[in-house]
Amino acid sequence: MTEMESDLRELYQDLILDHGKHPRNFHVIDPADCEAVGHNPLCGDKLVLFLTVGQDGRIAQAAFQGSGCAISMASASMMTEMLTGKTAAQAKTLWAVFEDMCKSNAVEPDRLAGLDEDDVLRLQALAGVRHYPVRVKCATLAWRTLESALDPAAVKKVGTE
Ligand code: ZN
Repeated sequence: MTEMESDLRELYQDLILDHGKHPRNFHVIDPADCEAVGHNPLCGDKLVLFLTVGQDGRIAQAAFQGSGCAISMASASMMTEMLTGKTAAQAKTLWAVFEDMCKSNAVEPDRLAGLDEDDVLRLQALAGVRHYPVRVKCATLAWRTLESALDPAAVKKVGTE
Protein backbone atom coordinates (compact mmCIF):
# COMPACT_ATOMS: atom_id res chain seq x y z
CA MET A 1 0.00 0.00 0.00
CA THR A 2 1.38 3.43 -0.90
CA GLU A 3 1.43 6.26 1.60
CA MET A 4 -1.36 8.00 -0.27
CA GLU A 5 -3.54 4.90 -0.17
CA SER A 6 -2.91 4.56 3.52
CA ASP A 7 -3.85 8.22 4.11
CA LEU A 8 -7.00 7.72 2.07
CA ARG A 9 -7.90 4.65 4.05
CA GLU A 10 -7.58 6.58 7.32
CA LEU A 11 -9.65 9.42 5.92
CA TYR A 12 -12.46 7.05 5.01
CA GLN A 13 -12.26 5.18 8.29
CA ASP A 14 -12.76 8.53 10.04
CA LEU A 15 -15.71 9.13 7.75
CA ILE A 16 -17.29 5.82 8.84
CA LEU A 17 -16.84 6.70 12.52
CA ASP A 18 -18.39 10.11 11.90
CA HIS A 19 -21.39 8.68 10.04
CA GLY A 20 -21.85 6.07 12.77
CA LYS A 21 -22.04 8.77 15.43
CA HIS A 22 -23.97 11.32 13.38
CA PRO A 23 -26.05 9.53 10.74
CA ARG A 24 -27.06 11.70 7.76
CA ASN A 25 -30.52 11.61 6.20
CA PHE A 26 -31.86 10.17 9.44
CA HIS A 27 -35.58 10.91 9.13
CA VAL A 28 -38.86 9.60 7.78
CA ILE A 29 -40.05 10.45 4.27
CA ASP A 30 -43.82 10.45 4.14
CA PRO A 31 -45.06 9.68 1.59
CA ALA A 32 -42.16 7.72 0.11
CA ASP A 33 -42.19 6.06 -3.32
CA CYS A 34 -40.29 3.04 -2.01
CA GLU A 35 -39.99 1.84 1.54
CA ALA A 36 -38.56 -1.29 3.12
CA VAL A 37 -37.74 -2.64 6.56
CA GLY A 38 -34.50 -4.45 7.28
CA HIS A 39 -33.49 -6.43 10.32
CA ASN A 40 -30.21 -8.08 11.25
CA PRO A 41 -31.12 -10.37 14.16
CA LEU A 42 -27.46 -11.38 14.66
CA CYS A 43 -26.67 -7.92 16.00
CA GLY A 44 -30.08 -6.39 16.61
CA ASP A 45 -29.76 -3.76 13.87
CA LYS A 46 -33.07 -2.53 12.48
CA LEU A 47 -33.81 0.12 9.93
CA VAL A 48 -36.50 1.46 7.64
CA LEU A 49 -35.39 2.89 4.31
CA PHE A 50 -37.36 5.55 2.43
CA LEU A 51 -36.82 6.63 -1.18
CA THR A 52 -38.46 9.14 -3.45
CA VAL A 53 -37.97 8.82 -7.19
CA GLY A 54 -38.05 11.83 -9.51
CA GLN A 55 -39.75 12.16 -12.90
CA ASP A 56 -36.41 11.33 -14.51
CA GLY A 57 -36.35 7.94 -12.76
CA ARG A 58 -33.49 8.92 -10.50
CA ILE A 59 -33.57 8.68 -6.71
CA ALA A 60 -34.40 12.18 -5.55
CA GLN A 61 -34.22 11.59 -1.83
CA ALA A 62 -33.05 8.71 0.36
CA ALA A 63 -33.45 8.58 4.12
CA PHE A 64 -33.62 6.05 6.91
CA GLN A 65 -34.51 5.56 10.52
CA GLY A 66 -33.59 2.84 12.91
CA SER A 67 -31.22 1.72 15.57
CA GLY A 68 -28.23 -0.53 15.66
CA CYS A 69 -24.48 -0.70 15.91
CA ALA A 70 -22.24 2.05 14.54
CA ILE A 71 -21.32 0.04 11.43
CA SER A 72 -24.95 -0.54 10.43
CA MET A 73 -25.84 3.11 10.99
CA ALA A 74 -22.73 4.38 9.17
CA SER A 75 -23.36 2.09 6.23
CA ALA A 76 -27.01 3.22 5.95
CA SER A 77 -26.02 6.87 6.32
CA MET A 78 -23.32 6.67 3.65
CA MET A 79 -25.59 4.66 1.37
CA THR A 80 -28.34 7.29 1.48
CA GLU A 81 -25.78 9.93 0.46
CA MET A 82 -24.56 7.76 -2.42
CA LEU A 83 -28.07 7.00 -3.69
CA THR A 84 -29.17 10.55 -4.38
CA GLY A 85 -29.21 11.12 -8.14
CA LYS A 86 -28.73 7.43 -8.98
CA THR A 87 -31.06 5.32 -11.12
CA ALA A 88 -32.30 2.02 -9.68
CA ALA A 89 -29.90 0.22 -12.02
CA GLN A 90 -26.94 2.29 -10.81
CA ALA A 91 -27.94 1.67 -7.19
CA LYS A 92 -28.10 -2.07 -7.81
CA THR A 93 -24.68 -1.99 -9.47
CA LEU A 94 -23.20 -0.29 -6.39
CA TRP A 95 -24.73 -2.96 -4.17
CA ALA A 96 -23.40 -5.78 -6.38
CA VAL A 97 -19.90 -4.30 -6.26
CA PHE A 98 -20.11 -3.74 -2.50
CA GLU A 99 -21.32 -7.30 -1.92
CA ASP A 100 -18.30 -8.61 -3.82
CA MET A 101 -15.94 -6.27 -1.95
CA CYS A 102 -17.25 -7.71 1.32
CA LYS A 103 -16.14 -11.16 0.15
CA SER A 104 -12.81 -10.31 -1.43
CA ASN A 105 -10.53 -7.31 -1.84
CA ALA A 106 -9.77 -8.42 -5.39
CA VAL A 107 -12.72 -6.93 -7.24
CA GLU A 108 -12.05 -6.80 -10.99
CA PRO A 109 -10.94 -3.24 -11.86
CA ASP A 110 -13.23 -3.11 -14.91
CA ARG A 111 -16.22 -3.62 -12.62
CA LEU A 112 -15.32 -0.30 -11.00
CA ALA A 113 -15.04 1.50 -14.33
CA GLY A 114 -17.74 4.09 -14.74
CA LEU A 115 -18.47 4.28 -11.02
CA ASP A 116 -17.99 7.49 -9.08
CA GLU A 117 -14.52 7.40 -7.52
CA ASP A 118 -15.75 8.75 -4.20
CA ASP A 119 -18.47 6.07 -4.06
CA VAL A 120 -15.84 3.37 -4.71
CA LEU A 121 -13.59 4.68 -1.92
CA ARG A 122 -16.51 4.80 0.52
CA LEU A 123 -17.54 1.26 -0.37
CA GLN A 124 -13.95 0.02 -0.05
CA ALA A 125 -13.69 1.58 3.40
CA LEU A 126 -16.96 -0.03 4.52
CA ALA A 127 -15.94 -3.35 3.00
CA GLY A 128 -13.03 -3.43 5.46
CA VAL A 129 -15.52 -5.29 7.70
CA ARG A 130 -14.80 -8.46 5.70
CA HIS A 131 -12.00 -9.04 8.23
CA TYR A 132 -14.74 -9.39 10.88
CA PRO A 133 -17.24 -11.77 9.25
CA VAL A 134 -19.90 -11.26 11.92
CA ARG A 135 -19.96 -7.52 11.09
CA VAL A 136 -20.52 -8.04 7.36
CA LYS A 137 -24.25 -8.45 7.95
CA CYS A 138 -24.22 -5.11 9.80
CA ALA A 139 -22.54 -3.34 6.88
CA THR A 140 -24.76 -4.92 4.23
CA LEU A 141 -28.11 -4.54 6.04
CA ALA A 142 -28.92 -1.16 4.47
CA TRP A 143 -28.05 -2.46 1.01
CA ARG A 144 -30.11 -5.62 1.39
CA THR A 145 -32.98 -3.39 2.52
CA LEU A 146 -32.41 -1.23 -0.56
CA GLU A 147 -32.66 -4.28 -2.78
CA SER A 148 -36.09 -5.07 -1.41
CA ALA A 149 -37.18 -1.41 -1.55
CA LEU A 150 -36.34 -1.34 -5.26
CA ASP A 151 -38.10 -4.58 -6.08
CA PRO A 152 -41.68 -3.68 -6.96
CA ALA A 153 -42.71 -7.32 -6.93
CA ALA A 154 -41.48 -7.93 -3.41
CA VAL A 155 -43.46 -7.45 -0.30
CA LYS A 156 -41.80 -4.38 1.09
CA LYS A 157 -40.59 -5.96 4.26
CA VAL A 158 -37.52 -8.04 4.83
CA GLY A 159 -36.16 -9.58 7.97
CA THR A 160 -37.80 -11.73 10.53
CA GLU A 161 -40.52 -9.54 11.98
ZN1 ZN B 1 -24.65 -4.45 13.79
